[in-house]
Amino acid sequence: MELAITGGTKLFALLGYPVSHSVSPIIHNSFFRVQKTNCTYIPLKTSPEALRETVRVLRESFEGFNVTIPHKQAIIEYLDEVDPRALLYGAINTVKNDNGRLVGYNTDGYGFIKAFEMSGIEIEGKKVLLVGAGGGARAAICELLRRKCHVDIINRSLDRAIALKQDVSGHFPGSVAIYGSENIEGTYDCLINTTPVGMFPNIDSMPIDPRVLERIGIVYDLIYNPWETKLLSAARHRGSKIINGFPMLFFQAAEANRIWTGLPLPNQAGQELFRKIAGHLKIVQTV
Ligand code: NAP
Repeated sequence: MELAITGGTKLFALLGYPVSHSVSPIIHNSFFRVQKTNCTYIPLKTSPEALRETVRVLRESFEGFNVTIPHKQAIIEYLDEVDPRALLYGAINTVKNDNGRLVGYNTDGYGFIKAFEMSGIEIEGKKVLLVGAGGGARAAICELLRRKCHVDIINRSLDRAIALKQDVSGHFPGSVAIYGSENIEGTYDCLINTTPVGMFPNIDSMPIDPRVLERIGIVYDLIYNPWETKLLSAARHRGSKIINGFPMLFFQAAEANRIWTGLPLPNQAGQELFRKIAGHLKIVQTV
């Protein structure tokens, strides 16, 4: 009889609070099945108070784990080493247990850029309007500046936008400016929403005045629930190219899997999984 979990099963987890909404267990367990590895991935609801003890247990018996809100920064103090890219982002989403040494990574930037590649969009050198200045924005801006983009940030709190600009300026060839949402002028190649505005259940909200969309060719929303936010729907009706948050989610997970297992995801199987999970999410989100 073939058992799903054995004494030798390698364990992986997602630490977050909450975690019940997460799609990561579906994605990672699908990767493991395709790779035919004896691994399993579970959601672990972890309150901020429980983080220290949970990490102690995971260090003993898990091969790796993801961290999500609210632990992406807090986890750093429990790690033995942090990858330089994650250090610059100031946040961790992936931890590898290297024989008891916990090493932190951030794979969001990788997923963020893969989404452009999948859509056949060359983002190098483009003028970008970035809405938001939190963790998602941080990963996005580093990758955009690395590719010589000019990025204008607008954010609800000015101090957070200033801190983001200060932290990333000088590390990359691209340039950054900060604007108030009422002062947006001119045209942009691309607008990127990195705020949760428009996310389920608040699906009627938009992060910017829709009139801004008239001057923008590509609109990318990091949200994947709903599949098409009000922002993306408005942009599509105006003829812009649109990208939702699913490719970023999928490929940050693929990169975490590569860090943990050292195995590439076979190309064709990866494409099939992408389509299958995307199809599943579209159905789940509309019922
Ligand atoms: P975060 O670190 O908490 O940052 C949230 C950002 O949104 C901040 O700039 C915040 O502004 C702004 N914001 C929050 N509520 C707002 C509101 N009501 N009106 C205007 N601005 C508001 O969160 P995050 O980790 O960056 O995540 C943000 C979104 O990106 C979420 O929807 C998340 O699901 C998505 N995301 C998706 C992926 C993916 O793989 N697709 C990866 C990462 C994130 P203040 O600075 O003023 O608070």
